[in-house]
Amino acid sequence: MQISKYRVVVLNYVARDDSGEIIDSSEVDGPIRYIHGTEDLIPGLENALEGRESGEKLQVDVPMDEAYGPRDEDLVEQVPRINFEGVDNIAPGMKFQTEMDDGSPFIVTVTAVDDDSVTVDGNHPLAGKNLSFSLEITEVREATSEEIEHGHVHDDTGSCQIH
Ligand code: ZN
Repeated sequence: MQISKYRVVVLNYVARDDSGEIIDSSEVDGPIRYIHGTEDLIPGLENALEGRESGEKLQVDVPMDEAYGPRDEDLVEQVPRINFEGVDNIAPGMKFQTEMDDGSPFIVTVTAVDDDSVTVDGNHPLAGKNLSFSLEITEVREATSEEIEHGHVHDDTGSCQIH
C-alpha cells in the first residue's frame, strides 16, 4: 500500500545532524507512527514519504527550513534563579514547561546556570539544524475514522491511549 493522505505509516528511523552524529533513532525511542497528510511530521519528511510503499528504505536530507526552522535568539532568556525555587540541582539540559502569553504550553531547555540566573532556550532542540534521516517503512494502512478524528495513531488493538 502506498503512503497517501489519512494512511497510518510506521517507520524505523535514524536521524543525524549536519556532522553525521546520531541524534535520535527508533532503536532508542521506538518507531514513528503517524497519520500522513496531517502535518504530524516535519514537512520535509512528509513530502519525501508521499507515494512510497511499505518495505521501502530511503535516505532523506531535510534542510532546516523543512525541519524545525532556524533558531530564534529572542527565545533565549535569562531568568532569575529564584524563579526556580524548589527545583534541586538545576542543570543544563533540564527541560521545563512554561506558558506562552496565550496560555499554550511551551517547552524550554536550560542552557546555563550561575549563582543568580538561569539561561533558558525556547527553541526546539533541533532548530537551526539540517537533518538527515535513514528511513524504513514497516507498515502502511488506512487510518480509522476514530484515528483521524483524534489526530493520532491507536495501538494494534485499535485502543486509544490518550482519550
Ligand atoms: Zn485516540
